[in-house]
Parts: sequence; structure tokens; C-alpha cells
Amino acid sequence: MIREIHILRDDAAARYSSVLADATGALLTRSYEEATEVLSPIAGEVWMGSLALHGKTAEGVTVRTSRSVPDRIRAQVFLRDGFLCSYCHGRTIPRNVLVALSDVFPDALGYHLHYKRGALHPVYWALAPEADHTLAHANGGSSEIENLTTMHARCNTMKSSLAVESLPEVAAAARTTSGSWDGLLSRYADIVIAGNSHGRRHAAPDYHLRWLRDYGLLEDRARVLTAAAGRT
Ligand SMILES: [Zn+2]
Repeated sequence: MIREIHILRDDAAARYSSVLADATGALLTRSYEEATEVLSPIAGEVWMGSLALHGKTAEGVTVRTSRSVPDRIRAQVFLRDGFLCSYCHGRTIPRNVLVALSDVFPDALGYHLHYKRGALHPVYWALAPEADHTLAHANGGSSEIENLTTMHARCNTMKSSLAVESLPEVAAAARTTSGSWDGLLSRYADIVIAGNSHGRRHAAPDYHLRWLRDYGLLEDRARVLTAAAGRT
């Protein structure tokens, strides 16, 4: 069943991240059926609101004009910031991890490569982070890691309407936050392996392998390759 979502609840990041964390736990320690049950409160939702995606061109996508940041640098920024948004301080889950979950649960968590409106679950809007320039690129800000901060795509869009001088304080506060949240990265490889065994692949065959490398998860990457080899 498809449920159109036009407005996100204020607690969307907290709610979606906790459902996905619980569903991932159920998938990896119990069963696919139990994970599906845990996901059911948010299953089949599709986002009908605004969308913005860095560095891609396609129908229905708002393309940002700022210089794109290499994936390896984005991974470092997210790790440094503990996968927390510097704008709302909420949890983020990287897009690559969300795609891996969509691979496992293609009907419950819809994904579309080009963010086609009506085909994408709202978790991509509510949870996926971008590496945002603290000092805008247009104002001379660099794409060095020191000038980048983790921010929900959604918050990044809201931030655009704020005065620049109000931002550094918010970013600094977020960097002092510590916690146990890791954006589900520690379970990423296992989700990919689960997706390979009973999912539907949404991205290029090496997409997850490249992200595992970019996050420095080389042992996990080797484990995914071994699991894939065992299936052929
Ligand atoms: Zn945020």
C-alpha cells in the first residue's frame, strides 16, 4: 500500500531513524519477517514534497549549483560529526545505507536513482545527510573538510533562507556532541549482504563496495565480496 506524505512531522528524523534501527536489528538478529513487521508503521510511504539532490541531473530533481564534494570527503565529514545534523542536531543515516535498506525492502522503502517524485520514501528526505559548506562556496568557502558540516538535505534547504552569520555557532555546537549513533554504518555490510540474498538491487553493482571503501571499512568490504562469491 502506498501512502503519500506531503509534510514531515517535527520528529521525523528521530522517528524514522529509530524504526530503521529497530528493523535493521530485527533483520540481522531475528528474521526478515520480523523486520518487515517492525517496518510496517512507515512501510509504503512516498515523499511528495520538495526534493534536492547534490550533483545529479534528472527529471524532478532540484540540482544545486555548488561544487560537489567527493564521496570520500563526505564520508570523513559524516564520521567526524557522528552522523548528527549540525542544523537540527538530529540523527542522520547516509544515503548509501538507506539504499542498502531499500535493496532489502524494495516495497516498504521505495527508492529511485534520480529521486523521482512519488517513488522515494520520505526517509531519504528526512535522514540522508549532505556535506554542507559552512562558508558558502559562492562566498569563497573551500571544499576542505574544515569548511564542511553534516546536514540533512531537508535542513540544508531550510538553512538557505537564514542569514549566514547565524550558522557558525550552530555548527560548533554540533561538533561537541558525542554519542553512540553511527548512522547504522556498523551494520551497513550486513545489510548489503542481506540485500544480495533476498533483495532488489537499485544501484550499480559496485556502489556499496565503493562506499565501504570510502568509509574505510575494508574488512566489511572484504566480507561483502566473500559473501557474494559464495553465492555464485
Ligand atoms: Zn537536520
